[in-house]
Amino acid sequence: MTSYVAAIDQGTTSTRTMIFDHSGRVVAVDQREHEQIFPQAGWVEHDPEEVWSNTRTVTGGALAKADLTSADIVAVGITNQRETTVVWDRKTGKPVYNAIVWQDTRTDKIVNELGALGGGQERYREKTGLPLATYFSGPKIKWILDNVDGARQRAEAGDLIFGNMDTWVLWNMTGGTDGGLHVTDPTNASRTLLMDLDTLSWDSGIAEDMGIPLSMLPEIRSSSEVYGKVREKGALGGVPIAGILGDQQAATFGQACLSPGEAKNTYGTGNFVLLNTGTEKVLSDNGLLTTVCYKIGENATVYALEGSIAVTGSLVQWLRDNLGMIGTAAEIEANAKTVDDNGGAYFVPAFSGLFAPYWRSDARGAIVGLTRFVNKGHLARAVLEATAFQTREVIDAMDADSGVPLKALKVDGGMVVNELLMQFQADILGVPVIRPVVNETTALGAAYAAGLAVGFWASEDDIRSNWAKDKQWDPSMDDSRRESEYKNWKKAVTKTFDWVD
Ligand code: ADP
Repeated sequence: MTSYVAAIDQGTTSTRTMIFDHSGRVVAVDQREHEQIFPQAGWVEHDPEEVWSNTRTVTGGALAKADLTSADIVAVGITNQRETTVVWDRKTGKPVYNAIVWQDTRTDKIVNELGALGGGQERYREKTGLPLATYFSGPKIKWILDNVDGARQRAEAGDLIFGNMDTWVLWNMTGGTDGGLHVTDPTNASRTLLMDLDTLSWDSGIAEDMGIPLSMLPEIRSSSEVYGKVREKGALGGVPIAGILGDQQAATFGQACLSPGEAKNTYGTGNFVLLNTGTEKVLSDNGLLTTVCYKIGENATVYALEGSIAVTGSLVQWLRDNLGMIGTAAEIEANAKTVDDNGGAYFVPAFSGLFAPYWRSDARGAIVGLTRFVNKGHLARAVLEATAFQTREVIDAMDADSGVPLKALKVDGGMVVNELLMQFQADILGVPVIRPVVNETTALGAAYAAGLAVGFWASEDDIRSNWAKDKQWDPSMDDSRRESEYKNWKKAVTKTFDWVD
């Protein structure tokens, strides 16, 4: 009997379940979008119960499409949008508030107050590898405890628990209100601002600064081990849950970036470049994050440097949904092809402030360089180029931190079907850009973590040998144009600073 591994990918815009065979090929996928809730400017929420309901639906859907049952699946892995914060009642299973999504900037004031305790934005860098920013979970938990009626008392009484989406899904899959597993992995925990990067345990001092009872926090296990089994009722009943990786770490794993110096860039809602730095934890001097890349069972922890960019693909969505300039995301390429260049226009999408390498919560978006000449095609190009320029800034920071210039960039995610963007990316970086055959690297990475834990894949060598190239773009822009374009971009970025207090 042929066996398979399943992965649940609980992403920012949708949840999907994918089934993979031993060669790492996709056998089936089912996917469902959830509502993006924008209660006010800068706030982004998801309904955790909708997400859990979608998770069940797509898991059943993927099995049905593949014509498989639980008996055919040897393990399931979970990967998830990171940082997004859910707080719920451990007895009733009810969330006390919507999930506060990673892009949400409502914790701006909390973050400034924490910085004012001493150390400013660098206050927790040494311990957590992160700057103090609205992006991470800790301040979001504090916001819920400060703002939801009675939440703090219930948390202190031990009734409320916290999880990122991995923990929320795992807890529900293993019993929910009947008492599920309250567990996470170090890649997710390393994005809370609450975990010590060396010991992989919660830091009581930071939790105290934020007024977060330690009893709320999940147990941190490795990224690849059997945590428990799916409860019997429902799809995948009885299947071991054996892998958890935050989405970007999962993509790094799925791209087989398993040796120090290997990097990938995922082009989704935002962009996330991760560079494997091996068992060495490299603290950044150039605005990058230090994060756990993965921890496979008892093996030593592998770390990564990460450049997180908040807005890339979501700028294309914005053009579609807020301006109606395109009917579908794919149309942007045809629009951009109607012109040869950006016509002098640069679009800096600082909608959630700017993440790496700037970490400026005071920045807001701007289109600069406009003249009467600029048309729809130029703007479409400026939108796509924004993704490539932001990536170049992060890669420059990585080169500076690691001292080793990147030789090639492996890419994946929803935007990499855009050929014009991929060519421009190679041009503006000056190194080849390489797309793998299996572009669903996030789900694949979670499947690998789960499959390794149960012996479906024997070792990381199996993962390396499964990776295959689909297409490569080589740089063709001359150096002087590359540098003048990049200089213009950097100037455009400075125009977005100091917009909000
Ligand atoms: P996520 O996992 O973050 O939800 P995906 O990897 O599914 O995101 O990528 C979806 C993103 O890719 C969307 O923001 C969408 O606007 C963008 N996108 C999809 N197709 C194209 C395209 N042909 N050109 C440019 N952007 C695209």
